Amino acid sequence: MPDTHRVKISSRGAVRLKSGHLWVYKSDVSAPEDIPPGSLVSVTDQSGKSLGTALYSSSSQIAIRMISRERVPDLLGLIRTRVSDAIGYRNKFIRDTNAYRLIFSEADLLPGLIVDRYNDILSLQILTQAMDAGPVRDALISQLTAQLKPASVIERVDPRVRELETLPARNSGLLYGAKTATTFTMNAVQFIYEALEGQKTGAFLDQRENYAAATDFAHGEALDVFCYQGGFALHLAKKCNSVTGVDSSRPALEVADQNATLNHREIEWIEANAFDLLKDYSTSSHSYDTIVLDPPAFAKSKRDLDAAIRGYKELNLRSLKMLRPGGILVTCSCSYHVGRTDFLEMLASAASDARRTLRLLEVRGQAKDHPVLLNMPETGYLKCAIAVVS
Ligand code: SAH
Repeated sequence: MPDTHRVKISSRGAVRLKSGHLWVYKSDVSAPEDIPPGSLVSVTDQSGKSLGTALYSSSSQIAIRMISRERVPDLLGLIRTRVSDAIGYRNKFIRDTNAYRLIFSEADLLPGLIVDRYNDILSLQILTQAMDAGPVRDALISQLTAQLKPASVIERVDPRVRELETLPARNSGLLYGAKTATTFTMNAVQFIYEALEGQKTGAFLDQRENYAAATDFAHGEALDVFCYQGGFALHLAKKCNSVTGVDSSRPALEVADQNATLNHREIEWIEANAFDLLKDYSTSSHSYDTIVLDPPAFAKSKRDLDAAIRGYKELNLRSLKMLRPGGILVTCSCSYHVGRTDFLEMLASAASDARRTLRLLEVRGQAKDHPVLLNMPETGYLKCAIAVVS
């Protein structure tokens, strides 16, 4: 590793770091021109006081991602320790699954790195210049394989992220071992995992505990809207008389159907635009006892907030109209920019427009393998409200 470079940050940046946040934006950094992309940098305030050590990006708006409050003489050693700590956290707090997020970037103090475990396959995503460096990759892979003994490690590449970080293009593929498909089990439900296909890195692991919570309350006839590969639907099938899953992606529904077969369940899958289908069903005489809404993120930035709220409200309003008395609504939002309060206000407004009474049973977030750093709100994004309708 080269010598640590020094960067001075503005007082606004320093206040942010002192509050426990881990990012400093480019506009708050006065970096000398010659800092190589992905360098380890020591961060000081305007008076020269040390604020810790960070990973530097020469191209991202987030120029500084803190990795330690201390000096870091051995980055690779620190990375190995952090991987080991992340594994220790999962061993302690994660139950009933052999698929979970093993490393969640900043929340595991490994900014720019995501690793998911799907039974015996690890799926890794690199999001920053520093994590892409050859020696860092080698240290990560050797630590992960030594501790977890996976059959394989694959890398999922997001070409847009590499472009933003001005990293050379790269394909998704195997980094270790040869296995690219497996099955995994969460809450006693089995799923197929194809490492080099699917959205994101495979399943929506952040919903694991919400699947179990939804199952506790689910009953009767159920509709899972935005079902992807059947995460909620397969869980609901444990309790419900009938389950229908809706998604606009045919490839997702094909895997959903294979998952149903694997679990000996009969589920009806409908390929449709959820907005059209809910409009159609809610104005005809369809009714359900349980409805799950888990749409993709509608607000990619703060600017989209109003449009996103309108989108969520339409879905929730139509669903509330279709729920029988005593029915259960499980409604989610994974948009970070839609806060918990915004989301609950939207739901309250949908309930009053639908002239229904909603009682909140639970307001939940992401599963514990996606830890939320209390001092860094960006690490918490998922909302899942479960309510009973009368
Ligand atoms: N509930 C799922 C995850 C849903 S992700 C689980 O737990 O695994 C969001 C899903 O919405 C994706 O599968 C995507 O294909 C689907 N989708 C996006 N826009 C849609 C639309 N307009 N109508 C129906 N499905 C849509």
